[in-house]
Amino acid sequence: MRWDVVIVGGGPAGATAAMRLAGKARVLVLDKEAFPRDKPCGGGISARILRRFPELASLLTKIPVRTVTKVRLHAPSGSCCAFQRPEPIYFMVRRLDFDALLLREAERRGAVVQTETVTSLRVCSDAVTVQTREQEHIASLVIGCDGVNSVVARASGLRPRWPESCLAIDMMEETPYSRLDFRERDTMEVFYGYNGEPGYVYLFPKADHINVGIGWKMQHFRRHKPGPPYRHHRALVELLIASGKLQGGSDRSCFRPFVIPVGGVWPRTCADRVLLCGDAAGFVNAFTAEGIYYAMVSGDLAAQATLEAAQAGAWSRRQLGRYPRLWKCEVGPELEFSVKVQRLLLKDTSRIDCIVEVARRNPDLLQKLAGYVTGEVAHRSFRRFLFGYSVRRRLQDLLESGRGESGQAV
Ligand SMILES: Cc1cc2nc3c(=O)[nH]c(=O)nc-3n(C[C@H](O)[C@H](O)[C@H](O)COP(=O)(O)OP(=O)(O)OC[C@H]3O[C@@H](n4cnc5c(N)ncnc54)[C@H](O)[C@@H]3O)c2cc1C
Repeated sequence: MRWDVVIVGGGPAGATAAMRLAGKARVLVLDKEAFPRDKPCGGGISARILRRFPELASLLTKIPVRTVTKVRLHAPSGSCCAFQRPEPIYFMVRRLDFDALLLREAERRGAVVQTETVTSLRVCSDAVTVQTREQEHIASLVIGCDGVNSVVARASGLRPRWPESCLAIDMMEETPYSRLDFRERDTMEVFYGYNGEPGYVYLFPKADHINVGIGWKMQHFRRHKPGPPYRHHRALVELLIASGKLQGGSDRSCFRPFVIPVGGVWPRTCADRVLLCGDAAGFVNAFTAEGIYYAMVSGDLAAQATLEAAQAGAWSRRQLGRYPRLWKCEVGPELEFSVKVQRLLLKDTSRIDCIVEVARRNPDLLQKLAGYVTGEVAHRSFRRFLFGYSVRRRLQDLLESGRGESGQAV
């Protein structure tokens, strides 16, 4: 059988593309793992996901989800600021449940899902052949949603392996509260620039589990963190227990480290008969390390471009160029800005101290910061606000220094 589309990878990117295409095209999803499968992840999804994908509201009632209404941001100096809302700020899910939920929905709508490992691709003028360990599949188009180590990205020539400078390592454990307890279960905690290092620590409360994670830029990890990842993670959990944030003990069997692409979207996301979505193409907010939302948005936009290509009966890079235009319009600027913010803050973590200190005293800035972190405030408006804010501050500083020198306002 010839497929219209083969989607490689059934995570949030692949499942979303499959949900959109099912019923309108013959879709095959291939994943090397049988679902439900786990994926190392904090599982924090900003609440704006429901505005972008309203159908998720009823789907999410089928799995355990914790709603977070308070976020506490800690600076390397130890000071912190917190914001709270009556409505949800984040949803906390286990990927074991969430990913299976999405893929089941794609299947219900008519996508075919098979457990096979893709090893290579061959693109010809009239079709693309997807080779798996088990067999071959022929399709008009392949959508690569196979994560950070994407085979599709490399086999299509769209991207080589990620350079080390574009990666972070994130080490996490997701442990039941009965073994590692966290009392403030409506609050997520983030320690940005933890210990003055280029990385972060997070505590994400799930329905029945606490997710504790520590992430570093890969270059920093390789150069300055010798030994096995679990040693560093366990030392962190012990510190959090000593400080009273957590109770109980770390559980090695719940620990998994994994990599995240945090260098921005790869410049090429389409070729003849090939599209790339999610982590495979680097759709991750480099500042917050949030990737689920962007994986789903990119999967959705790839499906839209696919349907347009099918209607035109053309699968060339030129026709599929609609996909990069769509994602650049919807999420391109905010993802680009996130890389700049991350580099700026992690290069000199005293900047985080400054921001947290000012946000603690200035409710306006705190609200804007909260809105930006949760994706509710567009990055443009945040940038405008910061610029306006820094100009106002500078004027104020000038006025104050003028007063100090001459005794009267300048
Ligand atoms: C530790 C950690 C914590 C994170 N925390 C958060 C968070 O709190 N919130 C958030 O939004 N994001 C978080 N992220 C990022 C988020 O996990 C990813 O951005 C997201 O999973 C990307 O989705 P995806 O569908 O592109 O890829 P994935 O979810 O990685 O799915 C890829 C799928 O492809 C399959 N696959 C791979 N290779 C092949 C092959 N050769 N053949 C067939 N199938 C294949 C895999 O089995 C997998 O199912 C975190 C990442 C890490 C590592």
